[in-house]
Amino acid sequence: MIVASDNHERVSAAQRRSWQQQLSHAIRDPSILCKRLGLDAQWLTGAHTGHGLFEVRVPEAYLSRIAYNDPADPLLRQVLPLGDETLSPAGYVTDPLEEASHQPAKGLIHKYAGRVLLIASPTCAVNCRYCFRRHFPYNENSPSRAQWQDALQYLRDDPSIHEAILSGGDPLAANDRQLAWLVGELEKIPHLKRLRIHTRLPVVIPDRVDSALLDWLGGTRLQKVMVLHINHANEIDQAVIDACTQLKAAGVTLLNQSVLLRGVNDCVETLATLSERLFEAGVLPYYLHVLDPVKGAVHFDVPDDEARTLVTRLRDHLPGFLMPRLVREVPGEASKTPL
Ligand SMILES: *Cc1c(COP(=O)(O)O)cnc(C)c1O
Ligand code: SF4
Repeated sequence: MIVASDNHERVSAAQRRSWQQQLSHAIRDPSILCKRLGLDAQWLTGAHTGHGLFEVRVPEAYLSRIAYNDPADPLLRQVLPLGDETLSPAGYVTDPLEEASHQPAKGLIHKYAGRVLLIASPTCAVNCRYCFRRHFPYNENSPSRAQWQDALQYLRDDPSIHEAILSGGDPLAANDRQLAWLVGELEKIPHLKRLRIHTRLPVVIPDRVDSALLDWLGGTRLQKVMVLHINHANEIDQAVIDACTQLKAAGVTLLNQSVLLRGVNDCVETLATLSERLFEAGVLPYYLHVLDPVKGAVHFDVPDDEARTLVTRLRDHLPGFLMPRLVREVPGEASKTPL
């Protein structure tokens, strides 16, 4: 991989910063993104158009893993807005999972038996162009301490719930004080057994895994699972491996979910390499999601037949425990639906 030498220097400076500083210094201007990566002018118009629909956000630590002057780079494709985001074929909608209709309390989504999602932070450290939450009304879903009371009461009142899943946005974009408080409240609920965290932050800003996070996470009585979100082996650099090692040492089971994306990972060898690399980092593949039909993301779509063929061929390359489950989320179903 050829990486611009000035990227290297700036990144090593960036990585001496705290994760909060890295987050606030993330690239949020499409012109700067194109310039830093040596993309020529033909990419700029589309980048600005897409940015108008869902803003650009790319932290330096992620940028450092993107090749210079390569519009096909699989990490770049996940974060660079394109003019194609204005395409709006039938069936592509703003809330493909119909989550708005499953919120019995503010910040809480209860669709599946035994587990609930808590929207612990409205923002993300990176804006992924294919995200099904790109149209999410985040401001209405970021409860303060007082506003968590309804969600907590809902959990206390339903003994069938054994698992709380912190989600977002990205839950680890919230500060540790707030997260420690929330987890402290959750662990007082006797029927809760597990804390799960769905996050991309340890991947895009590995310094997020710092001692403050390891303190509250390592200290809880709840069993801990972290589901990372990695789509390509190039996302796993040494800093990510180090972060994973620390999480495992704190007693966290590490899983990964990916989205099958045209031009990013729609290839057997790419998926096999991803699984192998995940395991080297101590992470087991969990789900491979087909794309949710969200407006603005149709150019990432891989048809179901092709997805099934890819996964069938993947079985020829990998041991069973490195095979992700190919699934889709169907509104109204009681679990993810295998393809
Ligand atoms: C995906 C999801 C979960 C978790 O599902 P698992 O199959 O347990 O990983 C829980 N709640 C909602 C609303 C989800 O979308
Ligand atoms: S980190 Fe996750 S929630 Fe945030 S933009 Fe990316 S895919 Fe969406």
